[in-house]
Amino acid sequence: MSGRRVLVTGGAGFIGSHYVRAVLAGDYSAYADAEVTVLDKLTYAGNPANLADMRCEFVWGDLCDPELLAKVVPGHDLVVNFAAESHVDRSIAGAADFVRTNVLGVQTLLQACLEAGTSRIVQVSTDEVYGTIDSGSWDEDAALRPRSPYAASKAGGDLVARAYAITHSLPVSITRCGNNYGPRQFPEKVIPLFITRLLEGRKVPLYGDGGNVRDWVHVEDHCRGVQLVAERGEPGEVYHIAGTAELTNRELTERLLRACGRDWDMVEYVADRKGHDRRYSLDDSKLRGLGFAPRISFDEGLAETIRWYADHAEWRISPSAGQKRDY
Ligand code: NAD
Repeated sequence: MSGRRVLVTGGAGFIGSHYVRAVLAGDYSAYADAEVTVLDKLTYAGNPANLADMRCEFVWGDLCDPELLAKVVPGHDLVVNFAAESHVDRSIAGAADFVRTNVLGVQTLLQACLEAGTSRIVQVSTDEVYGTIDSGSWDEDAALRPRSPYAASKAGGDLVARAYAITHSLPVSITRCGNNYGPRQFPEKVIPLFITRLLEGRKVPLYGDGGNVRDWVHVEDHCRGVQLVAERGEPGEVYHIAGTAELTNRELTERLLRACGRDWDMVEYVADRKGHDRRYSLDDSKLRGLGFAPRISFDEGLAETIRWYADHAEWRISPSAGQKRDY
């Protein structure tokens, strides 16, 4: 169907830019001719180069700006919110921006959607809102027990979305996904941090005993899950998007070392992250019931990701500098 207009907030970031690419590449047949608008504040994590060859309209602005949203949101059939402060370690150092964007920003966006009569909205969220689980998996009704300021702010945004769906019948659904990896992820998160360091022959910092477990989802699989929820999800409902590889950080490190031709002498054990969640695990049967299955195996996705960072030396910056990339 032609003529659809999609607003992607946070579309200059890692996952949002993959989503924009997929829409514009025609990967989602129902939106093959869609026009895309990106609204992004371009924080340190947003990068216009992610959208350089894309035919989309770009609006530089803040999710928390109601006047701007009142101008931008009307006319879009689908709004997908990827905009967020997204890094746990930064939320431990300072949580104010997290609460502002991830809670107030979501409310500001949903209010603008309500006033514009937007027919479909997806709020993109995370498995971290549930806290930590030693065994088994959470379903979508599990209690929200966030343990980091990042997770708490995402849970806050999710609850605002739920309230707008119930109170105002706003057609917003929520997705919660595991840890993403893939090209163009800012090298502060573990996979791109370790890859870029190992490619440069620098040591990598492994938290605590390395026993924390994460479920890895290729970014393109995540985006397909988000799109399926946009097309077939029920308003007010939550959908899980799980990955293809549940690994301890030690196992992940072992794979990265092997793939980069390095040994354990490149690993430096560092003090554990404060409040570090031990394990996340999502039961994704609800989304599978709509026809979803991840397509990219971890081995294949990781090899492709390493090749991408090897070919893009400009992404090898020091994340501790916390500065904007220089392009
Ligand atoms: P990212 O940090 O790479 O990108 C976030 C984008 O949002 C950036 O482009 C940034 O400039 C923009 N942004 C931040 N504050 C803004 C504001 N106030 N107004 C407008 N734009 C703003 O994050 P990501 O990894 O692409 O994550 C996208 C979404 O997916 C987030 O909501 C995150 O919570 C969720 N998520 C991420 C993962 C993961 O592993 N990365 C896993 C599950 C869910």
